[in-house]
Amino acid sequence: MSTVSITSCRAYEQAYVEAAFDHLLASLGGMDQFVKPGESVLIKPNLLATKARNKAVNTDPSVIGAIARRVLDAGGKPFIGDSPGVGTARKNADRCGIGAVADALGVPILEFSTSLSIGKTRQGGFPLELAEAARNADAIINVAKLKTHGQMLMTLGVKNMFGCVVGRRKVQWHLKAGVNRDAFASMLVQIYEALKPRLTVLDGIIGMEGNGPGSGTPRPFGILGASSDAVALDTVIMSLMGLLPSRLPTQRAAEALGVGETSLERITILGEDPETVRISDLRIPESADLEWIIPDFVLRPLKKSLTAYPEPEPTACNLCRVCVEACPEQVIQVAADRLRIDTRRCIRCFCCQELCPQGAMKTRQGWLLKRLQRR
Ligand code: SF4
Ligand code: SF4
Repeated sequence: MSTVSITSCRAYEQAYVEAAFDHLLASLGGMDQFVKPGESVLIKPNLLATKARNKAVNTDPSVIGAIARRVLDAGGKPFIGDSPGVGTARKNADRCGIGAVADALGVPILEFSTSLSIGKTRQGGFPLELAEAARNADAIINVAKLKTHGQMLMTLGVKNMFGCVVGRRKVQWHLKAGVNRDAFASMLVQIYEALKPRLTVLDGIIGMEGNGPGSGTPRPFGILGASSDAVALDTVIMSLMGLLPSRLPTQRAAEALGVGETSLERITILGEDPETVRISDLRIPESADLEWIIPDFVLRPLKKSLTAYPEPEPTACNLCRVCVEACPEQVIQVAADRLRIDTRRCIRCFCCQELCPQGAMKTRQGWLLKRLQRR
């Protein structure tokens, strides 16, 4: 059995968030259950990009502030760390407001720059190389943002630990997995398993729908969640959004690997009545495909019509080349002042969309996918 705590919180006012966070943690026994005096505690937010707070791309500073204060109260030594896809941890933290909160509390912000080789954590697993600072911290508090995700459908608790892969090594992970989302999800679960955050908190007060995680539409979901089991937390959040948990590739991988709790029946939900925080009509990414529910023999002839590819919007693109640099397969080129994508070699990781600072990388859906998603 795993326990997940949820609570509603409708605004990012510091006092509200602190009260909601205390309510959330009270169900789990308080911060003393997770942090002991003198321990170094990595607070791992989502610091994806250099975006303002109201874009809902990064974890909100009020949530990070509430967590850092409780860690300090418990006698821990918190630090904030990440390895963002665009910008730096410090720059992104400053832009969204986490920098000011951290400075006021005397909490350092660390850019993950060196990796430790962990090797394979299980037979047949992937050889892991993870941020040294994350591996060496006494405890990790993983603070995810509730957002849709072009490649993985949603980015929730388990996916947030991918920021502990340092810099360009993330690209190699995408290359290793290729078009296979389940293989990539398996890598994500193995990262989570290797680092095993003591606590995962999900900031869904204002999250993102549509073409997340970098350029979707902010939406107030009014929810905060927490658990020592990020897989269980993701299971509960998926069901609150009216989505089958098994639609999330990381849930399928966690179940296959026996990591965390993927069955709602074996999860105790504490805090608030789930009915009060239910989320309806979530707009999922246009790139979310349906391959996983369609048998292979049906899928093969329909593959093209069921697939979504990234497509630059020329009027919004300023040819900054961020996507060109980020593309693991190097299939994006600038030719005659326009971007060209070789879709035959594209592995549909949607890193280009995730990292585009202008929100200029759109999605082109196959005709059948478009129809099915509308339904
Ligand atoms: S699509 Fe976005 S990331 Fe790529 S060149 Fe254009 S603006 Fe830059
Ligand atoms: S074009 Fe975009 S989706 Fe395709 S491989 Fe490159 S980064 Fe991934």
